[in-house]
Amino acid sequence: MKTLGKYSFGLGDRFGHQGSAQLKAIIESSKKGIDITPVWNKSNREHMTIGTQPSDVRIEADQVTKKAGFTGDYFVDADHINFDTVDRFIESSDFFTIDVASYIGKKAEDTMIKEFLSGVLKYEGDLKIPGIIKSFSISKEQITHIAEKYLFAAIKAREIYRKIEKIKGRGNFITEVSMDEVPEPQTPVELFFILRMLATEYIPVQTIAPKFSGRFNKGVDYVGDPQDFALEFESDLKVIDFAVKEFGLPENLKMSIHSGSDKFAIYPHIGSIIRKYDKGIHLKTAGTTWLEEVIGLAASGGEALAFVREIYFESLGQIEELCAPYADVIDIRIQHLPSKALVAGWTSFKFASAIRHITNNQDYNPDMRQLLHVAYKLAAHRMDDYFRLLEKYEDQVSSSVYENIYSRHICRLFGIL
Ligand SMILES: [Zn+2]
Repeated sequence: MKTLGKYSFGLGDRFGHQGSAQLKAIIESSKKGIDITPVWNKSNREHMTIGTQPSDVRIEADQVTKKAGFTGDYFVDADHINFDTVDRFIESSDFFTIDVASYIGKKAEDTMIKEFLSGVLKYEGDLKIPGIIKSFSISKEQITHIAEKYLFAAIKAREIYRKIEKIKGRGNFITEVSMDEVPEPQTPVELFFILRMLATEYIPVQTIAPKFSGRFNKGVDYVGDPQDFALEFESDLKVIDFAVKEFGLPENLKMSIHSGSDKFAIYPHIGSIIRKYDKGIHLKTAGTTWLEEVIGLAASGGEALAFVREIYFESLGQIEELCAPYADVIDIRIQHLPSKALVAGWTSFKFASAIRHITNNQDYNPDMRQLLHVAYKLAAHRMDDYFRLLEKYEDQVSSSVYENIYSRHICRLFGIL
């Protein structure tokens, strides 16, 4: 049976050029005693925007690991797939993020809800999760409400899981269930019953991605109180621990943090909590690699700077269209975006500093960074030119990608000094 290691990183590489730089960060971390399983993830939306195939990700992952002589496990994740989009991912992926967000809130048939309730009404009253000091007082109404909200999604997850299993065979792939792309976070109590549903549906889930409180905007830091996040995260970990024993879920079931790129304010908390309880984590990053490519090109100056400046200028004229698909995960203050006239006079150093995610740098501009984050499709429109530049300025670009994953993500999460 394929199992995911204790620590794993979801690495997004939209344009398929940074696999080696990303892997270098993983290898560097193992030299420091932290073994991380790399997982290359790409969603259907990203494939559609860029015009790539899931098999391209497989080819890249196989090539870069072979080239580096990497002997550890690695996976290719069909990120955020559902029943309609999973098919073309099945052959080349061995990790599936089953996204049930769009099914949450739809009610399952009454008989199914009744059947589920008959198995869980024993938790009515004071639910005590080992390790959590206060017990949760839960009424029958609350449990019924949770069943009405989530059971249909769990049933759909099973349908998707079965579709994959039929082709790949049981145990030949990793299953994740994600519920992060919804407006409301799940509470620890909801998570408890959701895990019960997944167990009832016989889904051998190895990672679960809930929606947490606070905002997880793309490419920028966490918005919210990191202490509140830490409390919620710790409670969720204990719920998972208890659910594994109580419901017979896979022993290595662990938390997956989505939109995990650049959430620097919460990494030290996540790191210290997982070390305290000796737990694993899957941290999914995606668009941050594209941003690092832009930074690397900006820093290279000349034609490379001119190219990314042009992308920025173009994005200023299409803010609404570019942001629409990401409305829930970006917050751009348009009045803070630097004008064309201003940026036209910027040096390469200034441009790179504006979008490099170093929050105490006075040139850093999170609004500009977020806009460029969602502007990757503009580079996809002139792919030949973009790839030519990525290859020509590879040294600068790949060191930017490496630096970000290693120094700003891995070191912060694992407390590497
Ligand atoms: Zn997600």
